Amino acid sequence: MRTFTKSKRFQNVSYDIRGPVMQEARKMEAGGDKVIKLNIGNPGVFGFNASQEIINEISQNLRNAQPYGDSRGIAVARNAIMDDFKSRGVANAGIEDIYIGNGVSELIMMTMQGLIDPGDEILVPMPDYPLWTAAVNFSGGTAVHYLCDEASDWNPDIADLRSKVSSKTKAIVVINPNNPTGAVYSKETLQSIAAVAREHELIVFSDEIYTRIVYDGAKHIPMATIDPEILTISFDGLSKTWLACGFRAGWMVLSGNKKAASSYIEGLDLLSNMRLCPNMLAQHGIQAALKNHEDINPYILPGGRLKEQRDIAVKMINAIPGLSVVPPKGSIYCFPKIDAKRFNITNDEKFAMDLLKEQKVLFVHGTGFNWKAPDHFRVVFLPDRETMTDAMQRLEKFFESYRQT
Ligand code: PLP
Repeated sequence: MRTFTKSKRFQNVSYDIRGPVMQEARKMEAGGDKVIKLNIGNPGVFGFNASQEIINEISQNLRNAQPYGDSRGIAVARNAIMDDFKSRGVANAGIEDIYIGNGVSELIMMTMQGLIDPGDEILVPMPDYPLWTAAVNFSGGTAVHYLCDEASDWNPDIADLRSKVSSKTKAIVVINPNNPTGAVYSKETLQSIAAVAREHELIVFSDEIYTRIVYDGAKHIPMATIDPEILTISFDGLSKTWLACGFRAGWMVLSGNKKAASSYIEGLDLLSNMRLCPNMLAQHGIQAALKNHEDINPYILPGGRLKEQRDIAVKMINAIPGLSVVPPKGSIYCFPKIDAKRFNITNDEKFAMDLLKEQKVLFVHGTGFNWKAPDHFRVVFLPDRETMTDAMQRLEKFFESYRQT
C-alpha cells in the first residue's frame, strides 16, 4: 500500500509546548483528573480579559470585516502601529513597512520562509521560544544557538554569539523581554548585539511581544532604536500585552537599512499576497489596543496580579531544596534550574511527565526550549495566587522524594 509520510522539512522541527506531555495531560483530564496546566502563556484561560474598548471596536466592525482587505493589513491599524513605534523612538518605519499577521507566529514563519535558502544559518537564542528554531529549520536553514547565560541574569553571552557567526549566517534572533527566561536586556547588551549584526551585515529579528510586560521598574528598549543602519524586523501583537491570544493579531515593523533588502521585501510582499490578508475582524481592535497601551499596568505594578504571582513563583521555587530561579524582569515566565545530579535527572521530558502523573501539574521541560541540558523547566505564572501557590506546593512535594530511574 502506498503510504504518506510527512515532509523531510520536519527533520529537526519540534514544538514541545504542545507536545507529548500535554497530550498525556489531555488524556488525564478526559479520564476525570484535574490538572494545573502551566505550559502555555494563554492569559484568557486564567481569568484575564481584553479591554472593553478592544471588544467594542471588534464587535462594531463585524460587518466591515466580511471582505478581504489589504494583504499587509488595514490602514487604520498599520497607522496606529506606525505611531506606536514612532512614539517609542523608531523613526524610519512607514506604513508600507508594517505587516499584520494572524498572530506573530504567522509572521515568524513568513519571515523565515521568505529569507532562508538551504544551508543558511540563523542565530537563535538558547533557550528560545521554540517556534523560532522550528521556523528556521522548517524553512531549510539551520538554527545555530547562542548562549543566554543564567549566571549573568540570562543575558546573551556576546562572546558566544560572536563565535557562532559563520559565512552562512544571515540573521540574529533576539527575544526581549525573553520567553522563557523573563530577561529584559539593557541598552549596552542591545548595542553589543547590534555591533555583531553591523560587523557581519546581519538582519536582526527582534521578538518584542512582551514589550510592555515588565516588572520592578525595568524598561524595555526597542531593538530598532539602537542602530538605524541595521535592517531590523520588530514583532509585537495583541496576544500578551492586550491579553487576547485567541484573536490572532500580531504585527511586524521593518526599519533600518531597507535598501539592502528590496528583494527580500518583495518576497515578504508575495507571501503576504499569497495568504490574501490577515484576519480582518481582529485587526479592528489594534488601534484601540495601542491607544490604551497602559491597560496592562495595573497587572504589573506593585500590588498587581502578574507581579504578585511572579513573586510567589520566585519565592516558592527558591525555597525548594535543589531548585533555583533568576527572578524574571519581564514576560509571564521564569525558567528554574534543577540540580539534575541530586535528583538523578537525565531526561527532562520524563521529569515533566513524572511530575504530571504524580502531582497533576503540567510544565514544559527545558530542552523543549532548545536548552542544552536536562536541568531546567519553564513556569507560566498566569494563575491566580491560590492556584500558583498550590502548584508550587505540589512541586515541592514532588521533589521531596523524586529520583529519576
Ligand atoms: N513570540 C514569543 C516570544 C511568544 O512567547 C509567543 C507566544 O507565546 C509568540 C511569539 C506567538 O505569539 P502570537 O500569539 O502573536 O502568535
